[in-house]
Amino acid sequence: MNSKKLGEVGEFKIIEKIRERFLKGSGVEVGIGDDTAVLKVSNSKLLVTVDMLVEGVHFFPSISPADLGWKSLAVSLSDISAMGGKPLFSLLSLSLPSHLPEQWLDDFLAGWRELAELFGVSLVGGDLTKGERIIVDSIVLGEAEKPVLRSGARVGDRIYLTGSIGDSSAGLRCIEKGLNYPNLIRKHLRPMPRVKEGIRIGESGRVHSMIDISDGLVGDLAHICEESRVGAVIYSDKLPLSADLLTFCREQALSAKEFALFGGEDYELLLTAEANLTEFFEFPLYEIGEIREGGGIFLLDNGEEKPIERRGFDHFR
Ligand code: ADP
Ligand code: MG
Repeated sequence: MNSKKLGEVGEFKIIEKIRERFLKGSGVEVGIGDDTAVLKVSNSKLLVTVDMLVEGVHFFPSISPADLGWKSLAVSLSDISAMGGKPLFSLLSLSLPSHLPEQWLDDFLAGWRELAELFGVSLVGGDLTKGERIIVDSIVLGEAEKPVLRSGARVGDRIYLTGSIGDSSAGLRCIEKGLNYPNLIRKHLRPMPRVKEGIRIGESGRVHSMIDISDGLVGDLAHICEESRVGAVIYSDKLPLSADLLTFCREQALSAKEFALFGGEDYELLLTAEANLTEFFEFPLYEIGEIREGGGIFLLDNGEEKPIERRGFDHFR
């Protein structure tokens, strides 16, 4: 077991270590090691996104470094997917306390690389600083010929999800309460961005608007509604709920639909398009509602429609 602290390893050795571990993928003319990366881009549009994860705000200091590495990249990949794009390159800026063991960084990079390799995303640069707490800033560049925006929803569109929701926030609850539901906890710690689905959706040209579920279904659907100047109705009995979430909620006397409506960080894609969209794709899509005129989001439950208050996560409230 390696017990060296980062303070003893030093900045240049750390960068060298990162450089060794990440091979240059296609399109990378110059990767880590020069003043900037030099990247070959095609004729399509460049997508750029950045996400910051701060110790004490986004994760507990006790999180496993490999899970943190995975998740830091996952959230940015998911943003590219939510535009219907293909992720290509990533950059990684780190603030790390010098007392952290070198092993911590090795495990963090292993988690990042595991996900990056799944989708052929190269690490082409970043920055490094000593800091009092761990901060991870991840940038991903991607491409799309016709990006799918939040503002494209049309009245009469059906609303679809690429998978079940609520698991991640239930997993977070399990971590906080020390409950043993490993599948839910894994969904929270190692979300799988819908990269292949995002690419297919983008290529199809059939989807009018899209977002990824990071703040929760109601909060994220509200973003689509606001940007598109429309309203929406969600069918309560059509929400895709996993067997794990249903078991957890039955055993703990909690509401699975609450987790599905308001829980965040599932990183499923939420999209709107014409009816019968499902037949164009080889992956499942769950139809959960419809876009309508006017503002506001309503829940159709037991034949009764009620407005839903938005309760997404807001950092400054
Ligand atoms: P500069 O002073 O020009 O910003 P740095 O010493 O910060 O140079 O970085 C040197 C090289 O190492 C650059 O190519 C940079 O992108 C890369 N790099 C620095 N930190 C990281 C990191 N955390 N992950 C990946 N590459 C990094
Ligand atoms: Mg620098």
